[in-house]
Amino acid sequence: MGNEFICGKSINAWIKEYPIIKDLVDTKEVFWLNKKYTNFEKAMNKISLGEDDVKDAEDRLLRFAPLIAKLFPETEKLNGIIESPLIEISKMRSKMETIFNTTIPNKLLLKCDSHLAIAGSIKARGGIYEVLKHAETIAMENDLLHIEDDYSKLSEKKYRDFFSKYTIQVGSTGNLGLSIGITSAKIGFNVIVHMSKDAKQWKKDLLRSKGVTVMEYESDYSKAVEEGRKLSNKNPNSYFIDDENSKDLFLGYSVAAGRLKKQLEKMNIVVDSDHPLFVYLPCGVGGGPGGVAFGLKLIFKDNVHCFFAEPTHSPCMLMGMYTEMHQNVCVQDFGIDNITAADGLAVGRPSGFVGKTLEELLSGIYTIDDEKLHSLLKNIRTEENIKLEPSACAGLIGPVKLMQNINSLKSPLYKDITTKLPNSIHICWATGGSLVPENTL
Ligand SMILES: *Cc1c(COP(=O)(O)O)cnc(C)c1O
Repeated sequence: MGNEFICGKSINAWIKEYPIIKDLVDTKEVFWLNKKYTNFEKAMNKISLGEDDVKDAEDRLLRFAPLIAKLFPETEKLNGIIESPLIEISKMRSKMETIFNTTIPNKLLLKCDSHLAIAGSIKARGGIYEVLKHAETIAMENDLLHIEDDYSKLSEKKYRDFFSKYTIQVGSTGNLGLSIGITSAKIGFNVIVHMSKDAKQWKKDLLRSKGVTVMEYESDYSKAVEEGRKLSNKNPNSYFIDDENSKDLFLGYSVAAGRLKKQLEKMNIVVDSDHPLFVYLPCGVGGGPGGVAFGLKLIFKDNVHCFFAEPTHSPCMLMGMYTEMHQNVCVQDFGIDNITAADGLAVGRPSGFVGKTLEELLSGIYTIDDEKLHSLLKNIRTEENIKLEPSACAGLIGPVKLMQNINSLKSPLYKDITTKLPNSIHICWATGGSLVPENTL
């Protein structure tokens, strides 16, 4: 057990009020439906972010596309747009149906953010976006850049020299550091990545090979963030990318939704009230899955249901949203160790900003144990020849979890959703993996 009292209440009192906590403490798998989930229009009344903010992020990424194409030749094919494939995984589908003795309705798709250019993970969305936004802001403040310019000029030496006077810092379990470190260094910034003990050695090595300063901590992600924030605050020319609270990261992630909509249209897949979309997103601190889910809700409204996936040993977002204590609780308070092979999800304390923003928009959260992550990892490699990392596999089990708990969706909240299952579309968000070296799998 952790502390005797958590926010003034004993663990037993918490369990009495929130019975699922018992299973969380015992690190058993759970499926939590969000009782506060409500219709889109109503939920949006309480949220200060909206379509205009997402549009602003989309436009910014378009302005930067010529620069991205120049700095990262692997993005030339897509003209500097960093986007991942959406594919059907029918062999993996059969395999999962056999292993878990269930049927997955209609269409099962994999969103391969594992194969995003530059960072090889979902962090290529938020992380890169925030670095670019910061570069734009300071270049404009110094009259070096105007909105109508061709941004590819920023690759010239004089701009690199300018950016080298500035520092960017971030705390990370690994992938956010990769995405921000690689991009910042390429643009010319000084960059310091504060890595938690979960971060894999190859990620630190890769960053150092690109000129990034990596600081290592013997503690978890929250501590790495705290130390990074402190160090950054001491330097007026340093900018801290705050994974726990950043609206820019969140909006960078949200841009995925409009692009996914186009991909679905290209595949002739209709999403409407008779064809609901279910999306399963692996969740660490919450920014990545939160931003993507927010973008999806803006587009598909009540016709999309977003579920987060967390490891049984790091169910921080579930704990925060379920108890409504958000960033005021961490899993360690409840004696949960936050140790998991899903390093991208090894976060003990959730983002309060994300939890509150999605309070009435998120359909639910489930947890998955590490053993299943490993088996899914192996199976998707053999069945589909797709290389993922353990974190990414948390989303794969989503449709299975949904079908195993389908009775709980018969509540009035979800209207007649169960009758529409035969027409439903299921997207598992594969959040990382393509950069993982062969010998570490
Ligand atoms: C970071 C990460 C996530 C989750 O994103 P958060 O913003 O931390 O919630 C999921 N999968 C992978 C592989 C990641 O690196």
